[in-house]
Amino acid sequence: MESLSPAQPPAASEARCPAHPQKAVLGACTRCGTFFCEYDRETVDGKDYCDTCAEHPDVDYLEAFRLKYWGKRDAWTWLVGLGALFNLAVGAILLANELMNEDLGNTGLLLGMLSLVGGVVGVCFWVGMPFARLALCFVPIVSLIVSGFTSGAEAVGRGIWPIIITLSIYNNTRNKLFFKEEVSREALQKAWHLYHNNTVARAGFMLSFLALLIGVLAPISLLCSIIGLMRVNPTATPPVGRKGQAIAGIVISSVSLVGWGAFFGATLLKILLR
Ligand SMILES: [Zn+2]
Ligand SMILES: [Zn+2]
Repeated sequence: MESLSPAQPPAASEARCPAHPQKAVLGACTRCGTFFCEYDRETVDGKDYCDTCAEHPDVDYLEAFRLKYWGKRDAWTWLVGLGALFNLAVGAILLANELMNEDLGNTGLLLGMLSLVGGVVGVCFWVGMPFARLALCFVPIVSLIVSGFTSGAEAVGRGIWPIIITLSIYNNTRNKLFFKEEVSREALQKAWHLYHNNTVARAGFMLSFLALLIGVLAPISLLCSIIGLMRVNPTATPPVGRKGQAIAGIVISSVSLVGWGAFFGATLLKILLR
């Protein structure tokens, strides 16, 4: 009795997928070594995995990163929320002032209204309403135009900075994830590198510059840089990088340690020989 369908002729030399015996094995999972067929092969960043391993947070670490911050407020969002409260308070004070004086000057009224609108946009941004992401960029632009008319060119110069800040918030990957915007894998990779890739080495590198000014920090920055360097493993999943920063951190910390050591040594010697 023929048990196999004519469409799938038996081939004794071909290994069969353990999960799908009717399918030929195409390869083995990079992580666990399980054989997979065309049904359960998953490719992540150019490597083949079985479907179980492909879902593991270490394998698709960019997807894990995306899910971790999906819909979560970042520092920018909290800052915008605080700014919104400030704007609402200023707007309310300006309007109350105009109404009490009973001389409805156009400037105070306009600035008060503008402040309130900016505050409302900020609150909507904090809540995560999709329109507020773009609307926030227009708040400093509109107030720049208005302050240009009311207070002159000097106010325009100061008004540039809020525009730059809101535009960088608009382009910020973490903030896009809060708004549940689709983010490219390249952008996720950059954000992952910034927030999650060998943070000890990054801390050591940044601290080492501070250690040049404050000598007592040098042992801490040196230790962080050494730990960071030991963790470097570009072939791991996810890869651990920042080798250059770790080495730079060790060099700068050592310079600071030798410099401040000599300084303290000389000072101590001076006191003892007095
Ligand atoms: Zn696997
Ligand atoms: Zn299979």
